[in-house]
Amino acid sequence: MHVVVTGGAGFIGSHLCDALLSRGDTVWCVDNFCTAQPDNIAHLMDVPGFRRVRADVSDGLDIPGSVDAVAHLASPASPPDYDRMPLETLAVGSRGTENALRLAHEHRARFVLASTSEVYGDPEVHPQHEDYWGHVNPVGPRSVYDEAKRFAEALSAAYRRRLGVNTGVLRIFNTYGPRMRPYDGRVVSTFIRQALAGAPLTIYGDGRQTRSFCYVDDLVRGIVAMLDTTEPGPLNLGNPSERTVGELADLVLAVTGSRSGIAFRPLPVDDPARRRPVIERARERLGWSPRVTLEDGLRYTVAWFMNRVPHGERVEA
Ligand code: NAD
Ligand code: UDP
Repeated sequence: MHVVVTGGAGFIGSHLCDALLSRGDTVWCVDNFCTAQPDNIAHLMDVPGFRRVRADVSDGLDIPGSVDAVAHLASPASPPDYDRMPLETLAVGSRGTENALRLAHEHRARFVLASTSEVYGDPEVHPQHEDYWGHVNPVGPRSVYDEAKRFAEALSAAYRRRLGVNTGVLRIFNTYGPRMRPYDGRVVSTFIRQALAGAPLTIYGDGRQTRSFCYVDDLVRGIVAMLDTTEPGPLNLGNPSERTVGELADLVLAVTGSRSGIAFRPLPVDDPARRRPVIERARERLGWSPRVTLEDGLRYTVAWFMNRVPHGERVEA
């Protein structure tokens, strides 16, 4: 297949490029590098079948040659990133998604949207299944991301209904692994960086809020499976093993062997209290379920971070 991956130089996108290339697909990686690390794709630059296009998807998307599938991942994704780039986030969720959908329409290609568990907002239903419509503050600080993704889902559904485009929506839950930016502000990367530096782990609020963390290889297997079907979704992709942020901090300390303490900080506005995916649909329709435990996934991620962030007073586990 000839696959366009928007956001292909990002954390998840670069792993998706790896997976597609390794099965023989041709990949067009389109990225404006606003939150990418160029290192993520440095190893792919000489791989036959890999093409990098530096472009802002919100301005347009022009691919010379045939296209069989479009995986639309371009968007700031970490709360500090979309807080810093609110207009860009809304633009890529709306205009960027429309440009990606137009490309898929033009080429009669499969289209897969990387949507998010954030469409459920601060959920009043727990755990979250795909039929839950969510609880989002439309004007709060997270709304630029949440509403952009909700609009992107609506646009994908409309392109399917009105124009017959083969669209599919994935709602991705918190994902972690190698190639996260150490300073992206997300909880896993932040805790690992702090633990390795011997700095206190910053828990926002009392640490009793929950998330369900999925290892990136598991997630990418699900995205590839979705690209290979005509499934419209929406489908949740995530690891249903739910942990409190406090438990995550303890686990990171154990895996790194760090003696870092904990520093409590105020909880950000509209921070969701609980989050856990119901994944029965993805199991049934894609034959997908996650395989990597949080403990193992953290070990792999810490090993990757060890060579990339400064170490402080570390004690080997
Ligand atoms: P990331 O920030 O590492 O990757 C996003 C990529 O998109 C970056 O390379 C960035 O430069 C690029 N990008 C952003 N705006 C662009 C634009 N206008 N034009 C071209 N490129 C642009 O984030 P990620 O964690 O890899 O997330 C990838 C996708 O998955 C995002 O759409 C995100 O919303 C979604 N998602 C991620 C998670 C997660 O936990 N990581 C959870 C839910 C959904
Ligand atoms: N969080 C935290 N300390 C940090 C960064 C995040 O306690 O240094 C919390 C954050 O408030 C949220 C959870 O960890 O409750 C997950 O945050 P993240 O930004 O990784 O993902 P999201 O909130 O988008 O699910």
